[in-house]
Amino acid sequence: MMQISEPELLASLKTTFGYDHFREGQLEIVETLLHGDDAFVVMPTGAGKSLCYQLPAILSDRKTIIVSPLVALMDDQVAALRQNGVAASKIHSHQSYDENADQWLTFASPGPQLLYMSPERLMQPRMLEALKQQSVGMFVVDEAHCISKWGAAFRPEYEALSQLKTLFPDAQIAAFTATADEATRQDIVQKLSDENCRVFLKGFDRPNLSLAVLPKEKLKDRLVDLLEPKRGQSGIVYCLSRKDTDEIAAVLSAKGFPALAYHAGKDGDYRREAQNRFMTEDGLIMVATIAFGMGIDKPDIRFVVHASLPSSMEAFYQEIGRAGRDGEPAETILFYSMQDFIKRQNMIFDGEGEGDFKLLEYKRLEALIGYCEATTCRRMSILTYFDESSTPCGNCDNCLDPPVVEDYSAKAQAIFSAIDQTGQFFGQAHILDVLKGAQNAKIRQRNHQDLACFGALADDPKPFMQSWMRQLIALGAVRANLARYGALEITEIGAQINAGKTAFMAKTPKASKTSSSSRGSSQGSGKKTTTLEGADDKLFQALKAVRLEIAQEKNIPAYAVFHDSALKEFATLKPKTRAQFEEINGVGPKKLDRYFEAFSSAIELYVSAHKHGG
Ligand code: ADP
Ligand code: ZN
Repeated sequence: MMQISEPELLASLKTTFGYDHFREGQLEIVETLLHGDDAFVVMPTGAGKSLCYQLPAILSDRKTIIVSPLVALMDDQVAALRQNGVAASKIHSHQSYDENADQWLTFASPGPQLLYMSPERLMQPRMLEALKQQSVGMFVVDEAHCISKWGAAFRPEYEALSQLKTLFPDAQIAAFTATADEATRQDIVQKLSDENCRVFLKGFDRPNLSLAVLPKEKLKDRLVDLLEPKRGQSGIVYCLSRKDTDEIAAVLSAKGFPALAYHAGKDGDYRREAQNRFMTEDGLIMVATIAFGMGIDKPDIRFVVHASLPSSMEAFYQEIGRAGRDGEPAETILFYSMQDFIKRQNMIFDGEGEGDFKLLEYKRLEALIGYCEATTCRRMSILTYFDESSTPCGNCDNCLDPPVVEDYSAKAQAIFSAIDQTGQFFGQAHILDVLKGAQNAKIRQRNHQDLACFGALADDPKPFMQSWMRQLIALGAVRANLARYGALEITEIGAQINAGKTAFMAKTPKASKTSSSSRGSSQGSGKKTTTLEGADDKLFQALKAVRLEIAQEKNIPAYAVFHDSALKEFATLKPKTRAQFEEINGVGPKKLDRYFEAFSSAIELYVSAHKHGG
């Protein structure tokens, strides 16, 4: 247990990390851990969770183990800590036996030490024995939601961590996650700690992320249009399949974007290299399956695009959460189609797992469909799902360009009649063909051209019909029965609409051209830009080049040298002396020692060149 005053904590924050102030929630958590209590923290991605345990670990006189699920994450965190002069080590399978032995010796040497490990390694009997000989004061469990079967990303190897509290009764536990609903939270606390655990819920809102959903039509063209103004920015494009990933990366590369494909089909060396480049270089686009992302803590990812529907609301929120960790504006866009929804449904019900779990997963997917079809603020739709209330955000497509909602009960009734008259036996494509009055073999075979509903919506454009259908499904008025290959059925809610007891209020579909142009203009307005003006921006770019060179030489992520925010301040304030540098947020004594030379001379060079040049 340690008593350290707030001014002292602020001073250590500056000397170790170079930061001038704590972010929301950090101080309280740091104090709790220094006090010796267990803590469970739910904080949105990018809020600054790592610092909450790193600072107490550094100030403590005992040792700290950090359980982390991913090698890349360990590497980055340890690199960043070492840049700040903190004694941190890691033991994992990508290091040789000798390297690991070396890291252990560092950890076992006197003083506060931080050691990163995977849960499997930690729970090996030999490792546990060895740790009992060390004075371990704290176990930190990162991505703690992985311990819960209720969570969206259960990992069996996390379950063994529930033994820690009995194996090390004197050590404290600190668990962190960015995502956990009520059931998952209770499960985590129960497994890792006891009723004395202090729980910190810091909310889910990420106001700097803009939110938009677009219909998935002419995907590749629209993607290229969308990314055009973002050249030079780092981003992720998520795809469902390896094939899509390769294709989209190829399309983007052909258009001159620096894009890489990343999925589980690529070999380990390629993946490490790709990830390394993404972390180090500026302005790369990673086109990836979900194999990429966990543990990506690059702070300046400016956009996350979903080329396919994610698996659930949780997964979606975690994936877009990788954008804008630095707090600057970042954009998220989801391309959405009914086909993708059906695909996801099938993946859940064909997948492994108990019936209960499948239903839970299906609910999480449905919540995401609700988000896609929302007619009001999308942020409210997300936050409501996570049990938080909010007001319209002004930073989503629905807020900026509110959809027109009208009564489409008559259209819904036409759709119901087609489902009904064909015996609730067919999927969306055939139902829409019947309503459109299409001439095709399937229709002739079944004599569906003779039905009363045949051609009932012949005058409506196909995309409009698809949009109504999607909204009916999102509303729960129509359900795809997976046991019957996606045959559409009318539910109780649907029956109400069919009987005229409730109205089907739905978005008026927009022709895709107008929707994209109006979206473009509204997104552009009122948004902080992330680049600097004129001359300052040139210096900023020059400083980024200096940073890239250092990062490549040391083989560490660029942001571990300095964040963009610090470089921007260098570019505007043009500091000369060490004291002037140290005043900038993000510059601590260790980094000053290392990089003062490189950056001050780059600034000086630039300033004098521009003086003479007029
Ligand atoms: P999380 O784990 O919650 O997603 P991180 O711990 O990776 O977030 O922190 C996100 C970013 O914010 C990191 O780049 C980190 O260096 C930075 N950061 C954390 N705390 C502060 C602070 N007090 N002041 C400035 N930047 C901070
Ligand atoms: Zn909104």
